[in-house]
Amino acid sequence: MIFLPWQRPALPPHLDYSAADRLELLNGIPVCSGLGMADKERLLDLADEFLARKNMEGVQGMVLTPRIQWMIALQACLPILHLGLKVLNDLKSVVVYQGDFIPPWQKTDEIGVVHPVGPHQGESWQLGTVVLSWDAVEEDMKGEGEYPTNVIIHEIAHQLDKGGGGMPELPWTMSRASWMRDFSMAFITMEKRHKKGKTTPLDPYALESAAEFFAVACEAFFVAPGYLQEVLPAVYGQLVGYFRWEPN
Ligand SMILES: [Zn+2]
Repeated sequence: MIFLPWQRPALPPHLDYSAADRLELLNGIPVCSGLGMADKERLLDLADEFLARKNMEGVQGMVLTPRIQWMIALQACLPILHLGLKVLNDLKSVVVYQGDFIPPWQKTDEIGVVHPVGPHQGESWQLGTVVLSWDAVEEDMKGEGEYPTNVIIHEIAHQLDKGGGGMPELPWTMSRASWMRDFSMAFITMEKRHKKGKTTPLDPYALESAAEFFAVACEAFFVAPGYLQEVLPAVYGQLVGYFRWEPN
């Protein structure tokens, strides 16, 4: 059946949990459980629409139970809580592996030597696919890592950063120049610290590129907003402007 963009398809029956069960699931996800009741209701509604509109599939033996699908949808919708699902129009499917996966491509370095790509916990493709490792999702929910991480939020941030340059489409009220200034400054400062062997406010993986810096900063923004506000206040302020709310 074809749905017009403004028609909301119904959830398949096996995903159609009761309101109480949905809320219980949400409350079991640390990154979502601290929301106020109005935001929880908004998130549940968005996740319902996400599940109805996006394709989610388990590969290489990964069985996607309804509970797992809801847990992924709820975390995927957290960054767009006040932006709406329309900003993820290009995202068509979420592919889930049980563990880390080896991407089906290789990397060629500057002198033309081809290297295999190591195991990944997540990937975001411009063609509208997000790839996740469920083990990594569960690890993030334990919150025991050195840095605030959430692979789902990371990959959704890449989907929002359509140009891949570390800057999503900003509302007209925000300045692209000041976004560039604040993110570049934070990047350069962190790079200097990392080169000197000092601790860094974000996972050093953020220094791979401007796009990775944005995605890693988004993880910290939702997982540990108070921490991000303290260590990178200017970046925190830009993310409050873009996401249109303060999870802190
Ligand atoms: Zn990334």
